Amino acid sequence: MPVTNYDPIQIEEKWQKLWKEQDSFRSKVDPSKTKYYVLEMFPYPSGKLHMGHMRVYSIGDVLARFLRMRDYNVMHPMGWDAFGLPAENAAIENNVNPAQWTAENIEHMKEQQNRLGVSYDWHREVNTSSPDYYKWSQWLFLLMYKRGLAYKEKSNVNWCLTCQTVLANEQVEKGLCWRCSSVVETRELEQWFLKITDYAERLLNDLDQLEEWPERVKLMQKNWIGRSEGAEIAFKVKGFAGKEIRTFTTRPDTLFGVTYMVLAPEHPLVKPLVEGTDREEEVMHFVSDVRQESEIDRTSEETPKIGLFTGRYAVNPINGEEVPILVGNYVLMAYGTGAVMGVPAHDQRDFEFARKYDLPVRVVIQPEGEEFSGETMEAAYDGEGKMVNSGVFNGLSDSEGIRKVTEYLEKHGQGDFRVTYRLRDWLISRQRYWGAPIPIKYCEKCGTVPVPEEELPVELPMDVALSGNRVPSLAHYENFVHTSCNLCGGPAQRETDTMDTFICSSWYFLRYTSPNTTTAPFDKESVDYWMPVDQYIGGIEHAVLHLLYARFFTKVLYDADLIQCDEPFSRLLAQGMVYKDGAKMSKSKGNVVTPDEIVASYGADTGRLFILFASPPEKDLDWNDQGVEGCYRFLRRVWRLVVECREELSTGSGHTDIGEAESELQRSLHNTIKKVTHDIEERFNFNTAISSIMELVNAVYAYRQANDQQQYNHQVLSDTLEKMVILLAPFAPHIAEETWSLLGQSESVHRQHWPGYDPELLQVDQVEVVVQINGKVRGRINVPSECSREQLIEAAHNNERIGDLLEGKEIVKTIAVPGRLVNIVAR
Ligand SMILES: [Zn+2]
Ligand SMILES: [Zn+2]
Repeated sequence: MPVTNYDPIQIEEKWQKLWKEQDSFRSKVDPSKTKYYVLEMFPYPSGKLHMGHMRVYSIGDVLARFLRMRDYNVMHPMGWDAFGLPAENAAIENNVNPAQWTAENIEHMKEQQNRLGVSYDWHREVNTSSPDYYKWSQWLFLLMYKRGLAYKEKSNVNWCLTCQTVLANEQVEKGLCWRCSSVVETRELEQWFLKITDYAERLLNDLDQLEEWPERVKLMQKNWIGRSEGAEIAFKVKGFAGKEIRTFTTRPDTLFGVTYMVLAPEHPLVKPLVEGTDREEEVMHFVSDVRQESEIDRTSEETPKIGLFTGRYAVNPINGEEVPILVGNYVLMAYGTGAVMGVPAHDQRDFEFARKYDLPVRVVIQPEGEEFSGETMEAAYDGEGKMVNSGVFNGLSDSEGIRKVTEYLEKHGQGDFRVTYRLRDWLISRQRYWGAPIPIKYCEKCGTVPVPEEELPVELPMDVALSGNRVPSLAHYENFVHTSCNLCGGPAQRETDTMDTFICSSWYFLRYTSPNTTTAPFDKESVDYWMPVDQYIGGIEHAVLHLLYARFFTKVLYDADLIQCDEPFSRLLAQGMVYKDGAKMSKSKGNVVTPDEIVASYGADTGRLFILFASPPEKDLDWNDQGVEGCYRFLRRVWRLVVECREELSTGSGHTDIGEAESELQRSLHNTIKKVTHDIEERFNFNTAISSIMELVNAVYAYRQANDQQQYNHQVLSDTLEKMVILLAPFAPHIAEETWSLLGQSESVHRQHWPGYDPELLQVDQVEVVVQINGKVRGRINVPSECSREQLIEAAHNNERIGDLLEGKEIVKTIAVPGRLVNIVAR
């Protein structure tokens, strides 16, 4: 066979076809083997893969292929997070049904993924918009409902004007919609919620179990959950017997420093406080103005804090002092109690507010060596110190004060120790068509009636009636809305909200374990075998939303005895972004490189290799055309090496001696095996793994150059080549298959066992260490650079010259500094 050129397109298509025919990546439950579940976050079927996708799939695929060769039973599934707004927008633009648009996109993206050679088990594919999937999303909603974790309530919600739907708090970023960046406003609507706050404490505490999660992700979740300890304190209202204002503070030690109170405009006490007084008109006017602004605007840093005196006074429970009660735009009813106590000396926001309205500032915590005064201080002091101006509590530290003041309030029935969370319940209602219908009916007689399990799925109407510039919500489909009550048989109406798509993605990793189960969301045996996910890979943008929701669902299912694990993802890798010329790839910047282009000009192997080589997975990656070119050249060099060696090995007879050249080659091989194994397994340092394979390729070229063809050791050379190809297989799977077969192998390279290394054949770096006796240099020894203190001392004593010099002497002590010296004190 003549030496042919490296033709990636032809090779890659050939092997992809074969893998498919041979069903190479199918995974099955096998209790005799150790399972490994490797999962990349499933994509939204937008219609085209971008480089971020290619990166995350390449990372996952290295791991999946490597672990299969390490004899793990690997599951590596893929699917589609298919509900959501873009499908509706596309439906309008192209006048197609969202379902059809989604199906076509899935078809196309799946082809693209396969063209990258990613080793997915397609038998496990899920599509969240298909009725056999969302049936179980609805079933899980009903499970939540039965467990008291789903409820409907009227509340202020975030409303995106462009998307025409509500958003969860997590989906609003700096006052803007996370999807379309439009301004979000507040509306009062009746909405479905999931009671994630019931799990706040567990979601927080169990972060400690997640040792293999990036610290920054855990910190983001921790901040989002936002646990704080403090006291809830009751202030009486002067002249209003029986009325109390309850407020939460993390700093009860500053209670003597309260100089005013502020209520949220929505606070139920506002109206009664001003009713019939000369303050009524002005205050109520202010209240109705503020209530038209969004909560996000009201609490934003840039919004001026506005307050209005109600004419009433609150009584401080600790000293009986009367302080004015104001209504303020920046206090929200939804968070805490809707009332805050103003401690301007020790809280910056309160300080600015007090200065603006000329309210008194009283220092009650004085740090050592400072003499703050309320009249002159220029900023609040929120650090540590001793209590002052605080009656019997004077002299206590702030932390003692927190405890003692709370105890005092508890004793007098005017306060309690409290733990509060920033986390709110999860708003899941969406007023959009393309989502899973919420399985609830409303009957005039029976009220809210959950759809019985046997009626699931509640299917979306497929006769989409496009109107104007949007797809109408389910309320517009008469046949969908009108139904009958399951309790009384009378007429009933269906809930017309659909579920937040984050519900679909909160359990898809469970469905993968048994995607064809028709009697349950997943098969018990399969889910207990495969879960938890051993390695999850995805973008940092999901640190709070998706990962928190998925943890919540897992815990609920654990409590319902449906699964055995209560955390879904053992290890998490948040991969970095892909940039080009220092900027995120985007159409508007004109710096987009697509996976399709790379595959067409260089092949998938080159693209994958570059992505993995250019940067460690968790770091950002800067796309670089020269780097891609370099990876292509390297693969061509591998190709040429195998083709030439194959020729040479088939003609010459060679020899079987192990000389210095053979030892050198073996050392290089075993070092590379050790490094690649360690880099993939322990650290995901694919870039350094690849560069050591590059060094090995150089070493084989060097061996051939240094030796006449007749002087090759055929055994050593072909063993080195074979192992080199195996090491390359997880990174560049197609060229590995092809070169493996060129080397005369008939079975797939991806079915080979990962090679082990022989520690005796490792190349060991030696260092020279000075040996002193009583501080004088008496000799030098060569030891392995990584040897321990004990090994170093032993080597010094074993040295012949040192041994002679110590003859007959008593050794008092030995000091060893690895890598530098040994000093023996003797007399
Ligand atoms: Zn929007
Ligand atoms: Zn009824």
